[in-house]
Amino acid sequence: MKKTFGALLLIALIIVSCKSISGIAFKIDEDNCISCGECMNVCHHNAIVYDGDKPVIIQSKCVGCGDCVSVCPKSAIK
Ligand code: SF4
Ligand code: SF4
Repeated sequence: MKKTFGALLLIALIIVSCKSISGIAFKIDEDNCISCGECMNVCHHNAIVYDGDKPVIIQSKCVGCGDCVSVCPKSAIK
């Protein structure tokens, strides 16, 4: 069980790292977003702002750390 969890954690870290290295951007799925603001609160790069009542990621500021992905209660950031 511990090995399985470790393997899954490693895979998740690799995916996040690859996004960061490759410059692949994260995006917010407006249909799933409930506008809770958790992603904006956790982003240390001020890369998330509200556009109307929904947050958007400013791609030029995003470093691909994945912090917003991990706090989103609706898995709306991919
Ligand atoms: S991936 Fe990191 S830098 Fe980019 S929007 Fe999310 S928290 Fe901010
Ligand atoms: S954390 Fe998720 S549900 Fe909350 S505002 Fe951000 S994208 Fe929307």
